[in-house]
Amino acid sequence: MNLTMQYNGHSTFNTFLVLICALFSVVGCAHAQTDHPDVKPANFAIEELGNGIYVHHGAHLDIDTGYQGDICNISFVVGSLGVAVIDTGGSFKVGNQLRDAIKKVTKLPILYVINTHVHPDHIFGNAAFLQNKPDEAKPVFVGHAKLGDAMQLRKEIYDKLNQKYLGDDAKGSEIVKPTLPVKAVMDLDLGDRTLRLTPYAVAHSNTDISVLDSKTHTLFTGDLLFIERTPVVEGDIKGLIAAIDDLKTYPATQVVPGHGPTTKDWLTALNNSQRYLNILLTDVRNSIKKGESMERAMDTAAASEKDQWQLFDIANRRNVNTIYPMLEWE
Ligand SMILES: [Zn+2]
Repeated sequence: MNLTMQYNGHSTFNTFLVLICALFSVVGCAHAQTDHPDVKPANFAIEELGNGIYVHHGAHLDIDTGYQGDICNISFVVGSLGVAVIDTGGSFKVGNQLRDAIKKVTKLPILYVINTHVHPDHIFGNAAFLQNKPDEAKPVFVGHAKLGDAMQLRKEIYDKLNQKYLGDDAKGSEIVKPTLPVKAVMDLDLGDRTLRLTPYAVAHSNTDISVLDSKTHTLFTGDLLFIERTPVVEGDIKGLIAAIDDLKTYPATQVVPGHGPTTKDWLTALNNSQRYLNILLTDVRNSIKKGESMERAMDTAAASEKDQWQLFDIANRRNVNTIYPMLEWE
């Protein structure tokens, strides 16, 4: 792909962003790993955080070994009335594995399927949750107010991406749009606990929401937070920095990021992410001011952060590719 493509029209640019974003989701999320002792490198290992919180961490992958649809963090929360799923993985196959894992933990119904944002590694397991028995109600699908439209806009590109990388595993993977849009902060009732959903302005993507559990104060950030790997900006870098500021005010005891290990040291993780983004923003602005080309900025911006993050070179270049054309218009 031509990473030096020039900004020459809004729709072209949007299409390009979508393409880049699809790549990001693969590259940026590779090597997801955790040092939590409960996680085993098995088919679909579940980390039990206690008090009804469960997390599956995607496989340790490099792009060269191929995207298999299972690279992001997928969580579920069990309340006294039923279960809420937070992201469903990148394929129907992964969604089914998740559904089976939930059924082993509880007989309670799955009430809600929440997508933290539109990226394909987080949404294509949704279809597995349409398969409830006739006597079971279908879950309510929940996401950002803009998620349905974003899914529709990207459908064709994501279908191609799934075909290319997943082959047969892409079978059954389909867009399932939210039936409950999150337009403002709202609570979902799971019986003995509620989940507070907060929608954001354009940040990592244009469809980000976070989820905070009332019982354990576990905060699920979606891709507003990456741990260990280079943060990804597909939406708006200033919006992402602001969203991280907002996340810092939450009364969280632990955080499940979109990718990377669960952490209790979440303020440090948010600060690390914000530090990188602020340096990137400053450096790209300076490059533009000096009249440096985007290609040059790709080589130099945020270079001081290189040793702090995994997959830095490729992810950082792509971040520059996303934000440089936007900042030119400041
Ligand atoms: Zn993402």
